[in-house]
Amino acid sequence: MLQKTDFYIDGKWVPPHVKNDFPVVNPSSEEAFAIISLGTKRDLDDAVLAAKNAFETWSTTNLDERLSVIKKLLTIYEDRSQDMAEAISMEMGAPIKLSLNAQTAAGAGHIKAFIKALESFKFEHPLREDTPDEFIIREPIGVCGLITPWNWPMNQVTLKVVPAVAVGCSVVLKPSEIAPMSSLLFAEMMHDAGFPNGVFNLVNGDGPTVGEAMSSHPDIDMVSFTGSTRAGVAVTKGAADSVKRVSLELGGKGANIIFSDCDVEKAVKRGALHCFNNTGQSCNAPTRMLVQRDVYESAVEIAKKTAENTEVNESNLMGNHIGPLVSEVQYNKVQGLIDTGIKEGARLIAGGLGRPDGFNKGYFVRPTVFADVNNDMQIAREEIFGPVLSMIPFDNEDDAIKISNDTSYGLTDYVQSGDSKRTQRVARQLRAGMVQVNGAPRAAGSPFGGYKQSGNGREGGIEGLEEFLETKAISGWNITS
Ligand code: NAD
Repeated sequence: MLQKTDFYIDGKWVPPHVKNDFPVVNPSSEEAFAIISLGTKRDLDDAVLAAKNAFETWSTTNLDERLSVIKKLLTIYEDRSQDMAEAISMEMGAPIKLSLNAQTAAGAGHIKAFIKALESFKFEHPLREDTPDEFIIREPIGVCGLITPWNWPMNQVTLKVVPAVAVGCSVVLKPSEIAPMSSLLFAEMMHDAGFPNGVFNLVNGDGPTVGEAMSSHPDIDMVSFTGSTRAGVAVTKGAADSVKRVSLELGGKGANIIFSDCDVEKAVKRGALHCFNNTGQSCNAPTRMLVQRDVYESAVEIAKKTAENTEVNESNLMGNHIGPLVSEVQYNKVQGLIDTGIKEGARLIAGGLGRPDGFNKGYFVRPTVFADVNNDMQIAREEIFGPVLSMIPFDNEDDAIKISNDTSYGLTDYVQSGDSKRTQRVARQLRAGMVQVNGAPRAAGSPFGGYKQSGNGREGGIEGLEEFLETKAISGWNITS
């Protein structure tokens, strides 16, 4: 059993003030493979104090200095990508190939995109050409509390830690207690890269203890949070009294609009596979598939075949299968929602309740497709966070836009059509932070974030740097008395 009970504070590994062991469970075997500690407010206070002290000097360093440490971090991260992939795979169940090529690679991609964004980022400039005496300076906001989820652990950690330290902030990271191993490894990398003591700190803990203490901490200037809408609301309330900035990246219930003028077979297959990817545990998963009525029944058949051909297996095996869900809590939640879908009268066409054949342990679920879903059903409104696709028919463009926007979320929507005028027209009308058309991948450094209850932040690239900056306007820049 791996013992990883220390926290990383002020450049050193330190034991918690109070022993509070917590097992990290491999979701394929349901067996604990490591022990961490759940911290307390006192552990957090130590980390915040270290970050506050480090901020005084780190915030005054020049960009070249910071860039050189970040470039070193990138080299170390790439050199240790196999270790990282194994840690992620063990802690949250992503099959090793997905863990290496998507989960771990996402982290390296973000670090590279931030380096690129920093190379042209203007931290200081006159307001306009005609106002040379009005000078704008972008300064690091201060000490940042970073709270991350378990589903894409390094994606989230790099999207927060790297831009924060790059612009001169110091940070305390609280990763998900369900999947902390990748972050503990990341802390080793930050140490080896040579960040000064206190610039990066890590305290493990649960939401109600360390997470809430972070939200209300008087010496934390900003909280950047990724996770459920429920916890995002709690963070916002906790932060109110100290008027700190809160950036939220929350859940989603993405619509994937499939018009009959596209290559329907390709679009449905791609959409279903995307929904099942990472065992459905992605905030931007296209979980509501809206299909134009004249091709609806053939789309249902294609989705059924795609689900039936999606293999499920253990995370340590090489292959294109999907792994288990992360935990027993998630397993029970997803089973409950599949049951709800059946009871609500949706037509179950693939998958369903229980584990796939051949599994009697591990949090494995069956890739599931419901047809004839009505957008008012709970399975169409709630984020299921499992490989469960809901198919909804629509009649025309207006109808599709209306159904897509009829949700409390607004993270990523998808449009499939052979008519680019139509895809552009529809994309403009979708109330979502991101729209992906005809399978186009997102460019590195493109802003990631949502509308409505999907959050208020934008991560990645230039917008991701701006999140961690304050703006100072100095009037009379060149004026002498
Ligand atoms: P979660 O909200 O349960 O936990 C996320 C983090 O918040 C964890 O570190 C947890 O310990 C902490 N936390 C929980 N309650 C808290 C509280 N009251 N105060 C402070 N911190 C608290 O979410 P999860 O189950 O780990 O992750 C899945 C969720 O994350 C899904 O809803 C998913 O859509 C969302 N997500 C969003 C994005 C995005 O960028 N929009 C990306 C990935 C995941």
